[in-house]
Amino acid sequence: MKILNKKTGLKRLIVAVCALGLMAAVPAAADELEEAQARKEALEEALEASQAEISALQESAWELEDAIAEIDSQVYSIESLISSYAYQASEIQAEIDSLQAQIDEKQVQIDEKQSEIEEKQSEIETKEADIDTKTGEIDEQYDSMKKRIQYMYENVDSMYIEAFFSTETFGEALTKVQYLNELNEYNQNMMDKLKALKAELEEEKAALETDKAALETDQAALEEEQNALADDRAYVQAQLEEVRELQYAQEAQMAYASELRSIKASELGYTESAIAENEATCADIEAELSAAISTIEALTTTYDTEVSEGTTTYAYSGGSLLWPLPSEYGADHISSWYGYRTHPVTGELYSFHCGIDIWCPQGTPIYAAASGIVVANEYNSSAGNWTVIYHGNGMYTEYMHQDYLGAVYVGQEVAAGEWIGAVGTTGSSTGYHLHIGVAFCYDGYFTGSGRVDPAPYLGLY
Ligand SMILES: [Zn+2]
Repeated sequence: MKILNKKTGLKRLIVAVCALGLMAAVPAAADELEEAQARKEALEEALEASQAEISALQESAWELEDAIAEIDSQVYSIESLISSYAYQASEIQAEIDSLQAQIDEKQVQIDEKQSEIEEKQSEIETKEADIDTKTGEIDEQYDSMKKRIQYMYENVDSMYIEAFFSTETFGEALTKVQYLNELNEYNQNMMDKLKALKAELEEEKAALETDKAALETDQAALEEEQNALADDRAYVQAQLEEVRELQYAQEAQMAYASELRSIKASELGYTESAIAENEATCADIEAELSAAISTIEALTTTYDTEVSEGTTTYAYSGGSLLWPLPSEYGADHISSWYGYRTHPVTGELYSFHCGIDIWCPQGTPIYAAASGIVVANEYNSSAGNWTVIYHGNGMYTEYMHQDYLGAVYVGQEVAAGEWIGAVGTTGSSTGYHLHIGVAFCYDGYFTGSGRVDPAPYLGLY
């Protein structure tokens, strides 16, 4: 950008130097001023372009800052959503943990019941074994009793006879019979005892089985409770997954926003460094510009000094300006006054006209409106061939659309009414006319912003 403008400046310089080459009579001071003038214009253009670039960059920097601020506020609300989901998740997790603790506790109870049931079972089995043993004993007892009884029934008569005949006394025989009877009674008693014992065992076993059944009922109830808890846990677990999904979605959103923010931030960084670069360029241009301006200022300063010291015969001492054309092209030839009007070329309504247009034929001589020094004499795309004269005390007159350049040179001091050029229609113009302007610029050089209505100075009103 800076290089480009320097190139443009260089081009202008070359044009200026070539133009000077054609005018061999121009002294060194004029050459220097012409160059400074061209450089000033080029630098002003470059400065304007750089400043426009800064404004555009500033605009986009502000847009980026707004975008970043918006992303930041989005991130802030996403963060609060995420923390709210995380909080919900932790609450639900606590609920799950408490349900799990209850399930575990139920499991402990179920396990306890299970071991009690197993204990009962082994007691039942012990009882069954006892019952089996008793049953065996009863069977054995019964068998031996049966055999004895059978033997006795089969042999009872002979036994009694033998008992009677083998014994010495009747009493002995009776004792033997009694003994047999007693033996039978004993067997009977034994049987009864065994049966009673077995019945007792079976009763105990039945009691154990009742206990076991009660334990099993308790265990089933516990399992049912545990299942209900597991159902609750599954329901809450599903809720947790829903919340987690919402949380993950927000986290993804946040990652996207953060990425976007860092892109915008780096764009902002580039824009800010481009602004800084342009500002540095502006500072450089301003330094060059002030150097160019001081060259131009030197001439106006010299003229002011000459006027104040009375060393020039070209001093303007105030009062009305001279009419810049031959008297036959007077005020009745004015085709456009100073102020707002419809632009004759662009057709733009209310475009501002910065001087007075006086219609007259091509080649009509143009005269300096007052004594002074020529500070600009060049071609300009809108003013055409254009001459600016400085009259001291910040006052300038300008003469636009001239047929050609070369009647005067920059740095030349001219007297009021002296011939300075010829009427033409160069630059932005619709026909032969002189555009005369008046300006007051107090910075030592001419600028368009100092233009005022020339009419009062020309004695028109
Ligand atoms: Zn005009």
